[in-house]
Order: sequence, then structure tokens, then C-alpha cells
Amino acid sequence: MGHIFGPVPSRRLGRSLGVDLVPFKTCTYDCIYCQLGRTTNKTVERRQWVPLDDVLAELKKKLTTRPDYITLSGSGEPTLFSRLDELIAGIRSMTDIPVAVLTNGSLLWRDEVRSQLMDAHLVIPSLDAGHSSLFQAVNRPHESISFDRMLEGLIAFREEYYGEYWLEVFLLAGHTAMDSEISKIAECVGRIKPDRVQLNTATRPTAEEYAVMVDRRRMGDLAAGFDPPAEVIADYRGVHAQSDFKAGRDSVLEMIQRRPCSLEDIADGLGMHRNEAIKYVEELSTEGLTEKRSCGGRLFYSGRHQPDTTEGTKGIT
Ligand code: SF4
Repeated sequence: MGHIFGPVPSRRLGRSLGVDLVPFKTCTYDCIYCQLGRTTNKTVERRQWVPLDDVLAELKKKLTTRPDYITLSGSGEPTLFSRLDELIAGIRSMTDIPVAVLTNGSLLWRDEVRSQLMDAHLVIPSLDAGHSSLFQAVNRPHESISFDRMLEGLIAFREEYYGEYWLEVFLLAGHTAMDSEISKIAECVGRIKPDRVQLNTATRPTAEEYAVMVDRRRMGDLAAGFDPPAEVIADYRGVHAQSDFKAGRDSVLEMIQRRPCSLEDIADGLGMHRNEAIKYVEELSTEGLTEKRSCGGRLFYSGRHQPDTTEGTKGIT
């Protein structure tokens, strides 16, 4: 499988060209809300999981797609890739397109990880809980990562990094989406001092069924618990009206209308990255065009009959 996927529409980053730097579900966490399922390789080992030269060569070919961002993200935790600084330097030497890094932030307490990220234009780490027991429950981190250590890393990175620093807080009903927990998270945010705080929630199928979405109105209320107020990441359906995305989405719909498929089936069958398949399934599910069923521990998607409507221009919110 290739290391580059997209461009895919992103709520925050416009058309984002993804760079996948680790094998599927190689991560320091095993979040209960992970859209990729449970972590199969929970590790803190940093190494060159994929060949740097191959990634750069593949990326170069995709630059003609003119994305808004080149985003280091993908199927696991990108800071586990040990040559991040060389990768970012390589990207910057071939294009002016800004480089963003989506990270869970769990390794920022390590000096070499912070220093390797210094030349990224934008880094978006996560903080999903304001104390240790909820951190353990929601993120299920590798045993060597404590809450205090993780938080120290987020603070230290802010002190050293001069690029844009957005903090993502992923909220779950019944876990973190309550005033008492928000005030603890907000206290941590006050120590980190990111440029922005963005609230997200489980709008996609999650690793555990009990990881449940917070409704939009409640998200708005919780955003007000931050000082300054956090932003709820906007609905990105409008971005998906782009014609290249629509073609892919229609192929996925056609496939799952024929037979129930897992994400893997869709990705393999249509020759796309799993992350792209997720985006399409999410879009279809928002439109009420899919049903999901769990079978033998795997999620399968099938298509509902598509209503006969003419698609108008969707507003970008
Ligand atoms: S949500 Fe991100 S950090 Fe959490 S397990 Fe999935 S890939 Fe890892």
C-alpha cells in the first residue's frame, strides 16, 4: 500500500494530502473512540517504519493535486517515525505547501520528538482528559506514558515551538462531556497555552461501542467552558461537494449497495487508503445512506437506497 493518501477533505485543513508513516494501528494509545478500531501494535518504539526516500518520492508525484496542507497523520501515531525532521525538511525543499502534523502528543515529553517537529507549520496534538484515571480510560496509553508525563510534553512543546499549535480535545458522552471534567481539561489547557482549542467528538464508528458522540448543542455549551471559548470543529460536508471527492464517494456507495463491506474491503476493492475509505463512509453515513453492523468483531457497512434528489451547493460551515 502507498504511503500517501488523498487529498481528502478535512474539517480544519481544507484539501489535505495525507502522509502515512507507520503500519496500520501502530500507536502509543488505544483510544476507545479510535475510528480505525483497536490498536494492534501498542508501542513507544521510534523507528523508520517506512522508507523515507519512498515517502518523499511518492509525495512528489502527488504535489500536482495542489492540496492546502500536507498532513502527517494516517493509520497510527506519526511521531513514532524516527526521521520526522528529515521528512519535514525534504517536503519543505520541494514545495511551499504547509506541513501539518496530527499527533496524539503522547511523545512530546521526549526531547528528540519535540526538536524533530520544530519546522512543521502546524502541529495539532490531543488532550482528551484532565486527569490520570480518565486518561487511562479514554486513551488506554502504553504503560510507559503517564498522564503527568504526557501533559509535561504538551507544555514543553509550546514553550519551544513557534509554529501554529492547535490543541484537539475529543469529547465523549458519559466520559468527558460534563462540566466537572471540562473544568479539569480547561485547567490543563491554561497551562499549555495553545493558539486554539478545538473540540471534536465521535461522529464516526468507534473502536468501542460505548464511546458515544456528544450532540452539537451540548458541544457548544461545553466550548464555553474554556477561556477563551473553544471552537467546535465545523461540519465539513460542504467541502465534500468537490467533484473529485464525490466520484470516490459514489464508488463506495455503489460497492456497499452490492454487498456489506468492511473498511478493509472498501479500501482494497477500490485501491484506496483506509483513511480515504473512512472519509467516504462517514459522509455517506451523515447523509443516512449507510447502515453498519458488527459481525465477528468487525464492522460492516451496507448501503441504503439513495433518495432521488438533485445535489445543490452545500454551504461550507
Ligand atoms: S485515535 Fe489516534 S491516538 Fe487514538 S488509538 Fe487511534 S490512531 Fe492512536
